[in-house]
Amino acid sequence: MDVEEFRKHGKDMVDYICDYMKSLQERQVIPDVQPGYLRLSLPAIPPEQPEAWESIMKDVEDHVMRGVTHWQHPRFHAYFPAGNAYPSIMGGMLGDALGIVGFSWAASPACAELEMLVLDWLAKMTHMPHHFQHESGLGGGVMQGSASDSILVTMLAARRDKLNQIKREHANDFEEGKFLSRLVAYCSKLAHSCVEKAGMISCIQVHQLDYHPDYLGLQGRTLQLAIEEDRRNGLIPFFVCAVLGTTACASCDDLESITQVCQREGLWCHVDAAYAGSAFICEELTYFLRGVEVSRRNVDSYNFNPNKWMLINFDCSVLWVRDKEKLTSSMIVDPVYLQHKHSSNVVDFRHWGIPLSRRFRSLKVWFVIRSYGVEGLRRYIRNHCMLAKLFESQVKRDNRFELVGQVHFGLVCFRWKDSNALTQYLIRQINDSGKLHMIPATVKGQYIIRFALCSEHAKEEDVFYAWNVIKTHADEISTTIKT
Ligand code: PLP
Repeated sequence: MDVEEFRKHGKDMVDYICDYMKSLQERQVIPDVQPGYLRLSLPAIPPEQPEAWESIMKDVEDHVMRGVTHWQHPRFHAYFPAGNAYPSIMGGMLGDALGIVGFSWAASPACAELEMLVLDWLAKMTHMPHHFQHESGLGGGVMQGSASDSILVTMLAARRDKLNQIKREHANDFEEGKFLSRLVAYCSKLAHSCVEKAGMISCIQVHQLDYHPDYLGLQGRTLQLAIEEDRRNGLIPFFVCAVLGTTACASCDDLESITQVCQREGLWCHVDAAYAGSAFICEELTYFLRGVEVSRRNVDSYNFNPNKWMLINFDCSVLWVRDKEKLTSSMIVDPVYLQHKHSSNVVDFRHWGIPLSRRFRSLKVWFVIRSYGVEGLRRYIRNHCMLAKLFESQVKRDNRFELVGQVHFGLVCFRWKDSNALTQYLIRQINDSGKLHMIPATVKGQYIIRFALCSEHAKEEDVFYAWNVIKTHADEISTTIKT
């Protein structure tokens, strides 16, 4: 394809995307295909000769689109939102078109510097402490591909930090493997499975602790008792991953008491706010951050995913650390071919994560923040929170259902009173109908249905529509039970 063909087909592609967006409502939110459907439709061998663009796009429409789940559909209430504002799409286009591989400042100065700038902007917007910002000279922020990457990288940094400390204390008989097997990390049983996975990858045992049965968050006291017991058993507690906005039900750990324990016991405190982190641009929701702000020592690292709830396309997960040396010293390898004349006085993000190569992701963040303004983003978050409350009020009025957890953000969890089986049956019926898409979770051993506000332009009528679908299916079930 030459540049003039790209000009033409690129414009056609924008038209295709616009038509897709406008037709969302007419499509079924989840596809009606069986596993292996695409194999049956497309050739198993690649073409030897070039094909016409029109023929490729025809296959997109005829075959690929048939199996697409429409995450931006107004009836999509599963998982969490997946941002895709138009300025973000354009940021992604430009980043792809520039085709840079920004592993160091020298590899593309604008890529490194815009990332630092938007990470500082995001820190200011979400009420993060000053020492997380590059401009503080102490810590800084970096974009990772996912929250799972952020948490793994942080656990590796905390592990290196702890082992270095032990090495200083046991200079004469330090054997890394011996101490590594005694390190223990903590999270609540409601923390995302990526914490457990980070432990698997980094050879760290992760103890999953009970959460408070009412507000569904981990408390400092539970952490304290676990640390004491583990120390008695010869283990070395070193890391905790607290969560603000759990995946199952968006509950929050008690950060204030957890950070106090971490300070007292010398643990690295990481906060995973993958979903809820975006909400902290709204002043009224920042009370969950108690414990992040108070002193420079409270929280060591913090991640959230603007690609969930800040209208920015996947992938975009941000991670801040209060001491950048602790992160980079666990990641640095420095072959001659990657060094450059400014190496010692600029930020080279290749030292801030696992991959060497990095995309120009900050463009899409910068485009979105500038196009919406922080106030526009707050409006979007507040709309979802308001609609979640509206949905909650519908659930409350139907005495067949009970709410699970509190509605702080844009997620409402509910279940058929006292019945895992009916809850499970209900969500299966609804998803099979194709009228709505939600996913289940378990909390306190109970099967629940999660209703997440996802669409950028979600409206009251979407909530009423969803409730009506749920109620209609519930009525059918009630009738069947009675007969
Ligand atoms: N942490 C929380 C609280 C999440 O909700 C999720 C995913 O939904 C993750 C971590 C994992 O996110 P990612 O897909 O970016 O690794």
